[in-house]
Amino acid sequence: MKAFSYVDAKTEKEAVAALTPQFEQALAIGGGQDLLARMKDYITQPDRLVNTRNALDATVKKDSGGLRIGAAMTINDLAEQAQVAEMYPAITEAAIEVGTPQIRNQGTVGGNLNQRPRCWYFRNEEFVCFKKGGTTCFSITGENQFNAILGGGPSFIVHPSSLAVPMLAYGATFRILGPRGERLVPAAEYFTPPTTNVRVENVLAPDELLTHVILPAPGNVKSGHYEVRYKTSHDWPIAFATVLLRMDGNTVRSARVVMGAVAPIPWRSPAAEKALVGKPINPQTAAAAAEAALQGALPLTENAYKIDVAKTAVTRAILRAAGQQTA
Ligand SMILES: Cc1cc2nc3c(=O)[nH]c(=O)nc-3n(C[C@H](O)[C@H](O)[C@H](O)COP(=O)(O)OP(=O)(O)OC[C@H]3O[C@@H](n4cnc5c(N)ncnc54)[C@H](O)[C@@H]3O)c2cc1C
Repeated sequence: MKAFSYVDAKTEKEAVAALTPQFEQALAIGGGQDLLARMKDYITQPDRLVNTRNALDATVKKDSGGLRIGAAMTINDLAEQAQVAEMYPAITEAAIEVGTPQIRNQGTVGGNLNQRPRCWYFRNEEFVCFKKGGTTCFSITGENQFNAILGGGPSFIVHPSSLAVPMLAYGATFRILGPRGERLVPAAEYFTPPTTNVRVENVLAPDELLTHVILPAPGNVKSGHYEVRYKTSHDWPIAFATVLLRMDGNTVRSARVVMGAVAPIPWRSPAAEKALVGKPINPQTAAAAAEAALQGALPLTENAYKIDVAKTAVTRAILRAAGQQTA
């Protein structure tokens, strides 16, 4: 690993002051699980690490009828917050399913939302792909079993954060702090596709930090979350979905359908949402919405199977949101 200096910041301002405008010259470190692995593999080689664990908020507080979650909170603590489970159950479900107990105990909310892609080519120093300043995406003709089926190109990574999907579904806003002050960015605008800047996955500048996730009052909404994995633990999902439903009696008044692990960003499907409005929820309407969600899917050579997996995740998340049984 390349030698680096270490700043143990004590306040958010101190942490921001230790960052620099140069790409990956100084990097925030939360639990370090993603960042240190990348450094050991020579994928990321910063000159300076800035510890955020003593600098950023690690609590959950009430905020205008919603909640404000500090980025230094561990995923485990998030999963155990009764207020989060009561108001935003899909976030709790996603948090509980992340990796393993050890990963949840060490990983932070800020680190989880800003973790880099798991694409095998990005993670292998031998492959200088788009994300590392190269001119190709090796997954297109290579091992692409877990890559994007929606919204891909020029890079076909999938976004790796489980928390991002329900947070986006609930309409979260992210508080960002930098040398120019704070800014509030909706989660829906925070994550950016490879066409915006193929090197990064979000709008954060190199000298900015994500400090809080601000969730609006959930209102009278029913939610469902469903993840499909090869293994029940110690792995990322192959595809998953968070669904929110607002009901008028037995029919859907409005819906929010967001999928994860299918695209370079958490992928909202207006087509699936439209397919649900005005309908009762049953296996047929749920399946029709899932069909709509995957309409534009363009699989690579080895990942067409993910279309069916994603349909299953969406169908079951819809049924769960309506309180109906799933397999
Ligand atoms: C076997 C395995 C299974 C896993 N399964 C899942 C899964 O199912 N779902 C899932 O979501 N994740 C999964 N993970 C990934 C794991 O959850 C993340 O690596 C972890 O959450 C990262 O958090 P951290 O605090 O350790 O991040 P760090 O490694 O400290 O940081 C990650 C990145 O975010 C940046 N960063 C950290 N904090 C901030 C901040 N406040 N503002 C701006 N940038 C910041 C860092 O600079 C770094 O680039 C898995 C990991 C493993 C090893």
